Amino acid sequence: MTKFRSIVTGGNTGIGAAIAQKLISRGHEVVCLSRRRPEWNDHKLSFVEVDLTDAAATKQAAQNVLAGGPITHIIHNAGIIRAKPLEDVQLDDLAALTQLHLGAAIELAQTALPGMKQARFGRIVLISSRAAMGLQTRTVYSATKAGMIGMARTWALELAPHGITVNVVSPGPIGDTEMFESVMSPESERAKALARSIPVGRLGRSADVARAVDFFCDEAADFVTGQTLLVCGGASVSALSM
Ligand code: NDP
Repeated sequence: MTKFRSIVTGGNTGIGAAIAQKLISRGHEVVCLSRRRPEWNDHKLSFVEVDLTDAAATKQAAQNVLAGGPITHIIHNAGIIRAKPLEDVQLDDLAALTQLHLGAAIELAQTALPGMKQARFGRIVLISSRAAMGLQTRTVYSATKAGMIGMARTWALELAPHGITVNVVSPGPIGDTEMFESVMSPESERAKALARSIPVGRLGRSADVARAVDFFCDEAADFVTGQTLLVCGGASVSALSM
């Protein structure tokens, strides 16, 4: 019987697919929560269609997953940007991204918690962003992604006595994703200039993020909680050159 059963939101594409595939390679059963069905298959992958900006639908989806068995890991990866300069920001955007990035995570965690507490084991990983530290046109995105960090630190304190760790992975620019392509073509001169501005000299890959998530998900990583790991090729370190 599979020991670990993981929810990966947005496990159908990009970073989420890389995370789901990494966890499956570790023997997990993975349930992908997203609007579109994954275009990849595995006998350990299942899919629940849900729009995570809809609180009631998210609650129902979480209950459906739980009905299939206890949830040991939650990786909340689904996310969108809604780039706008401050003058154009709509409070509707803030409400939608608050629900997607924060509300959905709360709902999923609340559903899984009784089982995790009973098992005295759980792993929760929230995918934030380097943009939580600030980026032009990202008012609602950076606000809600920064909120994930505070929320994870709070959960880490509340859940540590129960054997549940809560950590955050904050990616920098990850070139092989729809999200990156929605901002610029990975083949463009702009993307090449961006890659040159990153200390390691390249854009990130989904697999780079999955590797970090894999670390936090490990059963042995029980002394690491409340942490944020930036997977950004050094982009979050001061870029001043002397
Ligand atoms: P993608 O656009 O490829 O993936 C986004 C995922 O989120 C998709 O699986 C999508 O599935 C899911 N999603 C979006 N909205 C909803 C919704 N309303 N309900 C359910 N699922 C939803 O981009 P990435 O793989 O890059 O993004 C993964 C995470 O990484 C995001 O949280 C993003 O903010 C973060 N990130 C990405 C960076 C990058 O450069 N790519 C940099 C920093 C952070 P579907 O559309 O089928 O619902």
